[in-house]
Amino acid sequence: MKSFEELGLQDNILQAIKELGYENPMPVQEAVIPYLLGGDNDVVALAQTGTGKTAAFGIPLLQKLDPYEEYTQSLILCPTRELCLQIADDLKDYAKYIPNARILAVYGGASIKNQISALQKGVQIIVATPGRLLDLMRRGLVDLSHVHSVVMDEADEMLNMGFSEDIDAILDAVPEQRSILLFSATMPDEIEKISLKYMQNPREIIIGKKNESTASVRHICYTVQAKEKYQTLKRIVDFYPRIYGIIFCRTKAETQEISDKLIKDGYNVDALHGDLSQVQRDYVMQRFRLHNIQLLVATDVAARGIDVDDLTHIINYTLPDENEVYNHRSGRTGRAGKTGISIAIINMRETHRIRAIERSIGKTFEVGKIPTGKEICSKQIFNLMDRIEKTEVVEEDIADLLPSVYKKLEWIDKEELLKRIVTMEFNRIISYYQENEDFEAANEKLAQKYVEVPVQPGFSKLFINLGKMDGLSPKNLLSLINDCVKGEVEVGRIDIFTRYTLFDVACESAKVVTEELGTLKMRGRKIRVNPATEEQITRGAKAKNDAFKKKESRKKDRRGRK
Ligand code: AMP
Repeated sequence: MKSFEELGLQDNILQAIKELGYENPMPVQEAVIPYLLGGDNDVVALAQTGTGKTAAFGIPLLQKLDPYEEYTQSLILCPTRELCLQIADDLKDYAKYIPNARILAVYGGASIKNQISALQKGVQIIVATPGRLLDLMRRGLVDLSHVHSVVMDEADEMLNMGFSEDIDAILDAVPEQRSILLFSATMPDEIEKISLKYMQNPREIIIGKKNESTASVRHICYTVQAKEKYQTLKRIVDFYPRIYGIIFCRTKAETQEISDKLIKDGYNVDALHGDLSQVQRDYVMQRFRLHNIQLLVATDVAARGIDVDDLTHIINYTLPDENEVYNHRSGRTGRAGKTGISIAIINMRETHRIRAIERSIGKTFEVGKIPTGKEICSKQIFNLMDRIEKTEVVEEDIADLLPSVYKKLEWIDKEELLKRIVTMEFNRIISYYQENEDFEAANEKLAQKYVEVPVQPGFSKLFINLGKMDGLSPKNLLSLINDCVKGEVEVGRIDIFTRYTLFDVACESAKVVTEELGTLKMRGRKIRVNPATEEQITRGAKAKNDAFKKKESRKKDRRGRK
């Protein structure tokens, strides 16, 4: 590992970062800083928040800054106001000992007047959200003709938010001889398109694997009927009394609806979405950061700027349309050396989406079993006891009350008192959940069903064009593999359908099994084996789910007739 000195930083920056407590460069900094200092180089970096990317692009921009010129030299684009302010603040910290360095954040949702007067004083580095910057450019208040470096931070989010055209217009206004640095947590096709259109031989730097989700995050999927999603959400929240997290919804209306319902049901939550004013959003965020709110119900866009490291849970109340967005959501937990849980609440029709997400994040979802009333009860009572243990008593505050309390309860001993407290809490919780026993029974079945869906970790799923119609059974599939492939092959799940079969083999054997079985013929028919495509897996899952639904409805009919 190199030191900051060895990366070629000038003394006044070294001094500033030393004061911030940065001892050694983080991997993204080690890779990006010397490359950017080395010339007008373009970079595409896959790095998530928390990897130290702000310093990775910010420090080279500051080192290249000419403090004696007043024109704008570098531009940083990012998706939200919060990120804008955070980047500008970080850069100001690094520039503490650079005299005359002027850095300004311009973003929507705040007075444009103040931003204009700050701009008119001359700003060398602008940190901006694309919409507001374009507005200022159109008013002739920003001149980008001397810009030598453009950073696009959280580029994937900017595209998700529909800033693509604004970015095009902004990039058209900067000189052709400029370097572009693109930072993104994921690499959707559109990002590759931008890099092809605007960048020259960009160096691709990957910090962590492409689209890899954080190792410290467990992914759990609860499959329920659509009408029972809200009930399930409540049970999950009840099961984790110390939960501190974000519930993601897809639309503003849904976000507000779920938040309103939870508040009405007595939960400590609030909503964060684009229909709120900036002042309202700031207020909600402030309360969330202080842990005065346990759960935020948010849209992806509104949650962008949230920079909180200790979230215990992410709940996907509705799945996002893009797999990458799931990755983004779940990456908000399990940070700073902690573990986190990312939960998806889905209905049967969405099981294929879970598979696609599993492939995208390279991890398998655990099958969530909806907590029963008893399980929730025991967790809540334990939590109550824990709170009692940790409560700090301030004698003066309650001095006036205590004598009458002692008097009233003097005939009850400690053991009896505890029994009564526990019973009161138990009755309160269990009476609510007893009303929902049918829900528990129905969902246990759905959960069992879902067990059959995921691809096992370490295995690859293969497709073979032989099925029940050809008399294939798990046993004779295994003999077929044993006969054709030398050495041991570990075989996992086998799902046999009418005309084809999906089966898991250990990743290292997938190639040989595909090749060897693919040479066979059966009754003149050529046997086809290939790594199962998304479409084949989805078709299989759908067939299984349809069969399951049919079976359930036959059972219901029989019960109805009785
Ligand atoms: P970022 O990915 O830019 O949001 O940075 C994540 C956090 O790491 C921020 O709080 C930075 O202040 C901090 N940080 C960045 N670089 C270093 C470093 N070299 N050593 C220690 N902390 C750092």
